[in-house]
Amino acid sequence: MRWSGNLMREINGDGFRRWYERQLIGGFSFIALGLLLIVAGAAFLEVWLGHESATVDLLSAGLAFVSLGSGGYCWVKAAETIGAAEHLAQQAVCASCKAYGRITCQSERHERGSLTLFVQCIRCNHPWSLTL
Ligand SMILES: [Zn+2]
Repeated sequence: MRWSGNLMREINGDGFRRWYERQLIGGFSFIALGLLLIVAGAAFLEVWLGHESATVDLLSAGLAFVSLGSGGYCWVKAAETIGAAEHLAQQAVCASCKAYGRITCQSERHERGSLTLFVQCIRCNHPWSLTL
């Protein structure tokens, strides 16, 4: 995952809520970019199917594949980014004082594809962990 090693610094830098907002903005930007690329890919596909000449066919086929592939990748990245942010946000409520997103990360542990963040409530100092 792209924020391995940076997640703790990112959350502690601006706070969890700002981090979460940035993830959502990034995720929805990927959705918008993916949509544009898929529309462009469909346009290139239409030019390709028009059979103007061998050169235009080859060029538009290549551009169609690149655009559609990149658009699909953007949507996968969007789902991954938004999904991870939502998953962490659901765990970011303090069990002791019910404060949402008022956390500082104390440490993180990576093992076999999962990430555990050990956090502490800013308001009441209650410790717990978030897993991704
Ligand atoms: Zn608390």
